Amino acid sequence: MTEAYIALGSNLGNARGHVLGAFDALARLPGTQLLAHSPLYLTPPWGMLEQPPFVNAVARVGTTLSPHALLDALLAIERAAGRVRDGERWGPRTLDLDILHMDGVALDDERLSLPHPRIRDRAFVLLPLNDLAPDLALPGQGRVADLLAMLDTAGLERLP
Ligand code: ATP
Ligand code: CA
Ligand code: CA
Repeated sequence: MTEAYIALGSNLGNARGHVLGAFDALARLPGTQLLAHSPLYLTPPWGMLEQPPFVNAVARVGTTLSPHALLDALLAIERAAGRVRDGERWGPRTLDLDILHMDGVALDDERLSLPHPRIRDRAFVLLPLNDLAPDLALPGQGRVADLLAMLDTAGLERLP
């Protein structure tokens, strides 16, 4: 079993429902257990600002899947949630699932970069990740709580 952290995001349709449904879908993946998930947060859009706010969260899973098999499984969950890739980067989406980190894994190929290279720029990732793993050291980036302390979290709202 390898421990992995997955970022979830949605800002189209029932965004909260897409994120909650993705927790269930993660728990049903072969060789995979959902170990914990963060609270949900309502967050301002990032990258492309003219779009609805996102619902974001982070999940911790244990999995026997390889990094690339896990990525393929996440892309299938996104498709099942109605994700359409129209080529517009960082645009609105029903569901986005990114692998943030897998224990002991560092890789960078045409399909997969681990740890996810933009974690340190993103309060919407670090805030829920900090709820689960403040002491996690991300290779090449730093400790989660320290990275979060460098960002502004004023616009992020924890959902009840
Ligand atoms: P960002 O990666 O900046 O969060 P995005 O999530 O909007 O952007 P997508 O269009 O969802 O980007 O994904 C583009 C490709 O990124 C995926 O098809 C996948 O091959 C690749 N990718 C590389 N590293 C990762 C990772 N750690 N987790 C998920 N996808 C990754
Ligand atoms: Ca993403
Ligand atoms: Ca993605």
